[in-house]
Amino acid sequence: MINVVLFGPPGSGKGTQAVKMAEKYDLLHISTGDLFRNAIKNETEMGLKAKAFMDKGNLVPDEVTIGMMNAVIEENPGVHGIIFDGFPRTVTQAEALDAFLNARNTPISRMLALDVTDEELVKRLLNRGKDSGRPDDKDVEIIQNRIDVYNAQTLPVAGFYKEQNKLKHIKGEGTIEEIFGRICAELDSAV
Ligand code: AMP
Repeated sequence: MINVVLFGPPGSGKGTQAVKMAEKYDLLHISTGDLFRNAIKNETEMGLKAKAFMDKGNLVPDEVTIGMMNAVIEENPGVHGIIFDGFPRTVTQAEALDAFLNARNTPISRMLALDVTDEELVKRLLNRGKDSGRPDDKDVEIIQNRIDVYNAQTLPVAGFYKEQNKLKHIKGEGTIEEIFGRICAELDSAV
């Protein structure tokens, strides 16, 4: 079983790469952002709660996010492994994930961190906002807030996995295939 945290700022290409990884390595792809967007579309209670935070580019509270993640993992027993895309985004979430996975003897194998410059991120997100239909990709101020939130609340999560010798940096610029090749090289050495 291989469990991978795909880490990086908004716009670093996590979603694109996670889909390719899931296909090649037969892994379950869990994107907390996609789960929240679905909940909003289906107008669930959780969706309504999450929307207020997402629209501003802030994080949805830990207890909501952790509860949702634990439920999804429990609903999918017997998978080859999981790619965590957009989770954990706080050290509290990382601690909760470790506790949950370690209790099942299926710990995180690697954190792969996609490195992209801030300038490139804003460019990519505004570009994506033209046709993604995501309100949080359309407004430069909300994008900047998401990057600020990442730097303040999410970046410490890299330190959490670095202490466990699980962090690997991947250059997140270049073509999709070039970046995927770097990810595969890391994963192939991990399995
Ligand atoms: P993403 O699709 O990963 O860019 O996430 C979009 C938005 O969903 C974020 O800006 C947050 O508001 C919310 N979100 C996604 N994942 C998390 C998480 N792990 N913790 C808190 N909020 C999250």
